[in-house]
Amino acid sequence: MITDEQLLRYSRHILLNELDVAGQEAIMSGRILVIGAGGLAHPALTYLISSGVRQLTVVDHDQIELSNLARQFWFNSNDIGHSKANVLSQRLQSLNPYAQIEPIVAKADSILLQQLIPSADLVLDCTDNFFSRNLINRICYFQRKVLVSASALIFAGQLAVFDFRQGQGPCYQCLFNGKVTDQDASCAKNGVYSPLLGIMGSAQASEALQVLAGIHPQGCYLHCFDARSFQWQRFQLSANPCCSVCTNTGLSTE
Ligand SMILES: [Zn+2]
Repeated sequence: MITDEQLLRYSRHILLNELDVAGQEAIMSGRILVIGAGGLAHPALTYLISSGVRQLTVVDHDQIELSNLARQFWFNSNDIGHSKANVLSQRLQSLNPYAQIEPIVAKADSILLQQLIPSADLVLDCTDNFFSRNLINRICYFQRKVLVSASALIFAGQLAVFDFRQGQGPCYQCLFNGKVTDQDASCAKNGVYSPLLGIMGSAQASEALQVLAGIHPQGCYLHCFDARSFQWQRFQLSANPCCSVCTNTGLSTE
């Protein structure tokens, strides 16, 4: 039940016909798992929490470094050496008193993800490497969750929503088939344009809120953004018949 204070706090959302009170209440009931507390997670969590999502878990084993500060705007010089998940969760709490943000300072490995993903309605992949993205994709698929995946490298961003609630692909593995390595595509080696993280992380939050509210459009698309030309391209995705994840009908979490 939404309170009078919440009606006022979220009034600009509630005014949107597509959302209304029912959509806002669905957003407030959503449970979101965010994997990674870096450049994508900062804008994504900012919009999710200020928009009313109350149950969030943030997983990251990393500590804050000087080179993070150009993109990860909730951190400052005094935070260097501290846990990203802990500091980010503390800072975000000030955004919304209704939010319950649980930080988990641990590597998002298979064992941890298999513990956490079943109790989430939706998973945001805010990691920065293909190994983690493939692992998260695999477990989300077998747990029939919605995965909102994004990445940013150099001036290029990518975003896709994989809705596995019906037990069907396409999935993230269909897209890359494990052919791109982390050596090919790391921000530490190739660089990344700071505001691109803001755009892609905000886009993740936008997609996640629409999924929670039940108004996300049908179909699976890869959205590619070029920050140099400021152009978006959209590609419809279909399941790859050779995919080792979503064409494997024997449900397993291995
Ligand atoms: Zn697949």
